[in-house]
Amino acid sequence: MTASGVDSEEHFLTKRGKSTEQVHHDYQPPAGWAAMPVPIAKASTVLFPDTAALHRPRSREAMTYRYGLQGTPSSLTLAARIATLEGATHAVLVPSGLAAVTLTSLTMLKPGDEVLLPDNVYGQNRHVTLGLLSRLGIQHRFYDPLDATAFAAMLTDRTRLVWLEAAGSITLEFPDLLGLLRACRARGITTALDNTWGAGMAFNAFELAPGWGVDLSMQALTKFASGGADVLMGAVCTRDASLHRRLDEMIEYLGYGVGQNDVEAVLRGLPSLPLRYRAQEAVALDLARWMQQQPSVARVLHPALPDSPGHAYWQQVSAEGSSCLFSAVFQPRYSAAQVDAFVDALTCFGIGYSWAGPMSLAVPYDLTHSRSLPLPWTPQEGGTLVRFAIGLEDVEDLRADLAQALARLG
Ligand SMILES: *Cc1c(COP(=O)(O)O)cnc(C)c1O
Repeated sequence: MTASGVDSEEHFLTKRGKSTEQVHHDYQPPAGWAAMPVPIAKASTVLFPDTAALHRPRSREAMTYRYGLQGTPSSLTLAARIATLEGATHAVLVPSGLAAVTLTSLTMLKPGDEVLLPDNVYGQNRHVTLGLLSRLGIQHRFYDPLDATAFAAMLTDRTRLVWLEAAGSITLEFPDLLGLLRACRARGITTALDNTWGAGMAFNAFELAPGWGVDLSMQALTKFASGGADVLMGAVCTRDASLHRRLDEMIEYLGYGVGQNDVEAVLRGLPSLPLRYRAQEAVALDLARWMQQQPSVARVLHPALPDSPGHAYWQQVSAEGSSCLFSAVFQPRYSAAQVDAFVDALTCFGIGYSWAGPMSLAVPYDLTHSRSLPLPWTPQEGGTLVRFAIGLEDVEDLRADLAQALARLG
């Protein structure tokens, strides 16, 4: 076989050791390859053509490749596609959704500042705020995401960041997004949305009203973007070039990077994300409505159900788009152990964290120690909660599984 595109075929025949000839092999495949998948570029070392290029100062304007940690053509391609998905102009990638949460808070906050979080914020965001941010002298308070008036009264000159989550974790209240954002805009406070639930599909976080929306949107790509339940990754998106520069600078301090095998997996997931999102949300809504009719269930939490907290706010920003999650609050007559037994009796639902992968999941939650504000129901009205995440199984198999486990509950 002849290798085209090399200086001379004699070059291959020079007397170099077996290892050297592999490391410095200069075969170039024929030009003209074209295929839909993005070629995956892996590197720690990025090669400079000469020392003059090495010594050239890094350009602020143009991205120049200097080291694999700062991104390669494949990770930059994924970042651009995530930005498009979210309706943003810039995106950064980090090793997990949680890393994206921490990156956002550390970029926006310094000692003496205050951050406000919805009481139903993702549990690990609460954990980072109570632990790491407190240790750095950053104050926090939790707000009721359904009460924008009370929220506006909490804002002070020290409030530098407001976290939003739509819908909120576990209890899935949909916040008064427009009301909360208006209050922040009036005071010039930066807003960051955890957009994992919406995944860029339920609404455009940067166009919640004509011409405006949140400043930052982070997403656990671990969930819908990957879709495979086999990758951990996070992204932070923005339309603000200066915020993007600040995120990039913090990424460098923290040494965050993403593996290109993971980049490849998420790139493969993106074209089917809209189909998966629509399919999973349709089954979730169907089963949420069915669960509402079961006598052992006191209430079902799902933003598209008219009696779910924040339903009207959900309608304001998303005519459709309701993700793959719902929670069922069981009648208070059932003990937590009985509800655990119900979850153990399920055969189509795995027991475990994360969601939006192929397998449906069910997790019982005791929220009594993880919230600062009262829950939207009293202990007389509802007992243990189970959060369901719908995967890609057939809806009738999931319904039959729920029915048999409910029958055992009695
Ligand atoms: C899963 C999740 C995260 C964190 O993502 P990881 O990749 O698991 O760290 C953040 N926010 C929300 C709402 C999530 O569901």
